Amino acid sequence: MRGAVLYGPRDVRFEERETPKIIKPADAIIKISATCVCGSDLWPYRGIQPIAQPTPMGHEYCGIVEEVGGAVTSIKRGQFVVGSFFASDNTCPNCQIGYQSSCQHAEFVGTAQAPLLRVPLANGTLVATPEVPPGDMIPSLLSLSDVMGTGWFAADAANVKPGKIVLIVGDGAVGLLGVLSAKQMGAERIIAMSRHESRQKLAREFGATDIVTERGDEGVERIKELTNGIGADSALECVGTQESMMQAIRSTRRGGYVGYVGVPHGVEFKGEELFYAHVHLHGGPAPVRRFLPQLIDLVWKSKINPGRVFDLTLSLDQVAEAYRAMDERRAIKTLLRP
Ligand SMILES: [Zn+2]
Repeated sequence: MRGAVLYGPRDVRFEERETPKIIKPADAIIKISATCVCGSDLWPYRGIQPIAQPTPMGHEYCGIVEEVGGAVTSIKRGQFVVGSFFASDNTCPNCQIGYQSSCQHAEFVGTAQAPLLRVPLANGTLVATPEVPPGDMIPSLLSLSDVMGTGWFAADAANVKPGKIVLIVGDGAVGLLGVLSAKQMGAERIIAMSRHESRQKLAREFGATDIVTERGDEGVERIKELTNGIGADSALECVGTQESMMQAIRSTRRGGYVGYVGVPHGVEFKGEELFYAHVHLHGGPAPVRRFLPQLIDLVWKSKINPGRVFDLTLSLDQVAEAYRAMDERRAIKTLLRP
């Protein structure tokens, strides 16, 4: 089997990898229908998050169950399944309260840019669709594995409710799907911060009512102007930099909520500013598994079409170009087909 392996900065290769097989009775093997490149894959790709050795890549996946271990009862061969990038048992105390990405037995699923994938803890991790989906639904189902699940968690963590004013910081795929999530949750105004025309267009399509191009202090000023000097009720932080985090906190009203899902790189808080900001902060690695049944249902009934974030589709052997296109921001998100 050939799959993606990262060797170092801007060096992704498509090469021979060990074919996955059942190791533990709770494992399942999936034949990948589609996978993709994540914005977070770009951190090691750019060398910002160094890797110690050649590393197989990919943590977003959906596909057909090929084989299950002896302890797997919730899914069977031939079913189409979606899972999260963290395998979880879905039974431990953390899972039970909906934080499956902090499962006591969590295992990262990190080898999905390949034709076959081993998923541990299959009973708790994988959710089957009602039937094998039509081909045009696969991009949306794939997005639930991480990017849409993460955008949804950002909105959930930011307490988005009907009638509220929601700010989205970050116009990557997660931010754009944060817009879609806020719309679906009934937000009245959705302000997207973006400087890129194609992303602004998609943000509008997903439900953004206002676009703000300013950043930093000017950006905060602009949000205040748009909200009678008060700030947004909810802010979704979908980048993970100091600038984006402060943008979100400073643009949020007193008593408001910041949901943060950008993996932080060098983000630090001043206790005093945080103290007087009077905002709720909640975020972290999205417990995608919590939302999978609901999101699969919304996609299945064609109520949402998050697969629209994929603006480039390549075959898996073109994985190096998939990373390049996203690194150079020529593509919002690249879908890969084995
Ligand atoms: Zn658990």
